[in-house]
Amino acid sequence: MANVTLRNVRKTYPGGFEAIKGVNVDVGDGQFCVLVGPSGCGKSTLLRMVAGLETVTGGEIDIGGKVVNQIEPADRDIAMVFQNYALYPHMSVFNNMAYGLRNRGMKEDEVKTRVEEAARVLELAPMLERKPRQLSGGQRQRVAMGRAIVRQPKVFLFDEPLSNLDAKLRIAMRVEIRKLQRRLNTTSIYVTHDQLEAMTLADVLVVMNGGQVEQVGNPLAIYEKP
Ligand code: ADP
Ligand code: ADP
Repeated sequence: MANVTLRNVRKTYPGGFEAIKGVNVDVGDGQFCVLVGPSGCGKSTLLRMVAGLETVTGGEIDIGGKVVNQIEPADRDIAMVFQNYALYPHMSVFNNMAYGLRNRGMKEDEVKTRVEEAARVLELAPMLERKPRQLSGGQRQRVAMGRAIVRQPKVFLFDEPLSNLDAKLRIAMRVEIRKLQRRLNTTSIYVTHDQLEAMTLADVLVVMNGGQVEQVGNPLAIYEKP
């Protein structure tokens, strides 16, 4: 586990657009932090900076006591779940989940142990030999989560992972993610524009607008206010 601390983080895109204007957020060990706010407010820019997919132009990002501004993505021990799943269509579910581990040279018996454990947790065990096209949308999204889980990262990052699912599935997956968080207790940052999703999932809710944090706190306390 690890805390994630953002200190006065800024992002100015080449061309001069200031997308993030000095953001301070502290996500404690094992906490589930949700960044919520309207489209264009900077959620995904912020998440991508934590992931190391986007340069930081001001301030500091600290993961587990280490300032990571300058560190390569491969060294920061995070795993990200994307909106579009990013599964390999020609590979089985098992191989999709195993791919990143094998790339790192992990021994095959450890790969198998990790993939089977993740499949059990995600209720994908009977589907390990299928191809992504033989799965439902919700199952594909669970494979995408499985790929992150097998890495056993210190931090999970979620970029609108449910936005491609229909309303019913979204509700079901929301509950599953919450259960998974209770079980794995991994520090998480989750981006969504859906307030209900944010309310259900967050230990800490960060409400963003125009590249700044408007409110931070417990979701009930925030939404109770008139
Ligand atoms: P959100 O995830 O909340 O929808 P984004 O972080 O994607 O917001 O975008 C924040 C702002 O930064 C938007 O105004 C967007 O147009 C702008 N932006 C995003 N990526 C780039 C980029 N590569 N170059 C310039 N501006 C960008
Ligand atoms: P590939 O990207 O070809 O699937 P790897 O899984 O070994 O191969 O990852 C290559 C790079 O992508 C590394 O820098 C790794 O940290 C990063 N990466 C891979 N999967 C994820 C993920 N789920 N979340 C964040 N970074 C990832």
